[in-house]
Amino acid sequence: MARKRRVLSVASECAPLIKTGGLADVVGALPAALAPLGWHSRVLLPAYPSVIGRMPRSRRLWRTDDLFGGPAAVRATTIDDFPVMLLDAPHLFDRPGGPYESHGDEHLRFAALSWVASRIAIEGMSDRWRPDVVHAHDWQAGLTPSYLKYAGSTVPTVMTIHNIAFQGIFGPDQLSRLLLPEWDFHPDALEYYGNVSALKAGMMHASRVTTVSPTYAAELTTPEFGFGLDGVVRMRAERGEMHGILNGIDTGIWDPANDPFTVPFSPASLEGKALARAELLEEFGLAPHQGPLAVVITRLTHQKGIDMLLEALPSFLDAGGAVAILGSGEPDYEEALLNMRSASVGVKIGYDEALSHRLYAGGDLVLVPSRFEPCGLTQMYGLRYGALPVVAATGGLRDTVDDGVTGFVFDDISSAGLADALARAVAAHGTPAFDEMRLRAMGQRLDWGSSAAAYAELFSSLL
Ligand code: ADP
Repeated sequence: MARKRRVLSVASECAPLIKTGGLADVVGALPAALAPLGWHSRVLLPAYPSVIGRMPRSRRLWRTDDLFGGPAAVRATTIDDFPVMLLDAPHLFDRPGGPYESHGDEHLRFAALSWVASRIAIEGMSDRWRPDVVHAHDWQAGLTPSYLKYAGSTVPTVMTIHNIAFQGIFGPDQLSRLLLPEWDFHPDALEYYGNVSALKAGMMHASRVTTVSPTYAAELTTPEFGFGLDGVVRMRAERGEMHGILNGIDTGIWDPANDPFTVPFSPASLEGKALARAELLEEFGLAPHQGPLAVVITRLTHQKGIDMLLEALPSFLDAGGAVAILGSGEPDYEEALLNMRSASVGVKIGYDEALSHRLYAGGDLVLVPSRFEPCGLTQMYGLRYGALPVVAATGGLRDTVDDGVTGFVFDDISSAGLADALARAVAAHGTPAFDEMRLRAMGQRLDWGSSAAAYAELFSSLL
């Protein structure tokens, strides 16, 4: 039998090891979804202290005395059943806080990750593993295709944009320190308006560019959504080298019938959901409610439309709704939400994976009023757990929620648009139509099957 083809996936986060958002879920889920399609994956991830602290045993597969100012090694290990390669470089990654805690040297840390990925692709590792394709995720891996190009490598690369708003920008004075050539500092390669952008570099140098939904791929060609990189997207799209591949979800981890964090339920027996709802109201200190219980699980940022949420909530509450919110982010939003707490508004500031499961399970609605949303996972978890999504008509939200069929979609992306969609949800709640929508939502196919097949096909086309 022919050997499996190999893909090296390079990323700054990966569930269940380290997660701040959807990127981690995607990087964590793809390997298992690609395996049955003949692709063997290895994920390269920085050895953050929280990850290395859980590392049982490891094999060293690669090392160097000097990775941008200190020794480094790549170690293969398995944590919580997840096989991973960790870039152990204490001078870059052994520091307290989250993965993106700013010390002003993000460009250096993630250029190091990208440079090591390129070495693995070129030299292979001590166990002779060498990828046939390299898959770079977001700006943190964005320099990987460039390093491969400068080394004269022909290993094909795919650059996936999970969010074009984060571009990895730094000054040209860093070029030589990061082993990047001055001669390629121009707008057709590394330069982005006088600076370097790691994401743009990846988008210019990768064999193919993808993003995480068809609608977002189309939106990225416009100045409104392209954050200054729409010209690059248009150029790649015109050549047929830009693809929108919708994310799936890990239906094993996100399975209402078998979820260690909450009461089990299924479309055939929804009593567990009613219990989860009652427990959720209690956990958030909310009064019993006849109206719909909406949940929000999100980063508290402008992108996620928290300002619109704040403005639209009063009419929803007046109509009998309640809301339970879990999130963290911009301090002003945190404070504004905390100030709204009442018998109908529960707020928990922080990041809590287990609680997020209980929210999807107990919610009647999940609110996602994003200004833009590359794919969005929260609406998909909502669908799977029978919490009907109320979403803005953008990006992957548009591609996954069917208005009036599996959720409530609003085209006018404003607080008025959201309030209107919430009013429709309140009107539907408690009617047979709402229950039918819930069953349809829970039955929607959301697994990785067809998306993984699209990635596998793309990878194969590059060999
Ligand atoms: P993004 O990656 O832009 O943050 P996504 O919808 O793609 O948005 O993914 C968000 C992921 O992070 C989901 O899995 C969601 O459940 C999770 N999440 C967001 N905020 C929190 C939080 N405060 N606690 C737990 N999980 C959260």
